[in-house]
Amino acid sequence: MLFDREKNLLFDLTLPIYPFHKDLVGFPKVTRWNHAEGARLNSVPAGIEPKDFPEGKSQAWEEVTLATHLGTHLDAPWHFYPTSEGKPSKRIEEVPLEWCIGDGFILDLTNKGPEELITKEDILHALKDISYTIKPYDIVMIRTDYDKKWGNSDYFEKHPGMGRESTIYLLDQGVKVIGIDTFGFDRPFKTMGEDFKKTHNKDVLWPAHNVGKEREYCHIERLANLWKVPVHFGFTFVAAPVIIEGASAGWIRAFAIVEKDKTE
Ligand SMILES: [Zn+2]
Repeated sequence: MLFDREKNLLFDLTLPIYPFHKDLVGFPKVTRWNHAEGARLNSVPAGIEPKDFPEGKSQAWEEVTLATHLGTHLDAPWHFYPTSEGKPSKRIEEVPLEWCIGDGFILDLTNKGPEELITKEDILHALKDISYTIKPYDIVMIRTDYDKKWGNSDYFEKHPGMGRESTIYLLDQGVKVIGIDTFGFDRPFKTMGEDFKKTHNKDVLWPAHNVGKEREYCHIERLANLWKVPVHFGFTFVAAPVIIEGASAGWIRAFAIVEKDKTE
């Protein structure tokens, strides 16, 4: 059994979507109807009066306008480029569900400073620290602890980010999904923009996302609570995306299933 109430613990690795918080992209708008308003809405198609509902109350309701890249989400290959490995890139509904569940492991990159690039050497060091050997279809999570800064400008503008070589190294081990607990998989927009203005080298712009042109993979942005998971590996990670037909990403509820025995 994958989850046994007696033997397992669950860790929620998801950042809630806060409708009242301003984000850099796709500021969410939520319209809410309470139970009295629900009675008013439901009474029309039902051909009755709002007062006909018990206590004049019916179902609560929300309507949301939200970017697919807001909150904890999985980026599909289509997000990166129209093609991947020379074929049309997978949209979110084409991402195999088999990629979204698997043995998880967490790499501790909390030593990386603001706006720093996470290099292949950083990944090798972090792997050595936990003495872990990657298997194909493992789901790797890059822990920076920037989720603790959620809601302040450092979260959006100062996080470290993955690079081309570090991403390729993980994909070379057979990994298909890489998660990170930062605002974006690459370094902040402004940081990359400043590097470009200095160098006029297009390769400094979204180098990790751009790996997706040559190598078919998905990444997860804005994971949370990796610091709460009591083990570095030996747990199951689950993160199935919501399907919006043809979309470049899907919101996920990500969680880790950990055996209690392994935490003692
Ligand atoms: Zn995204």
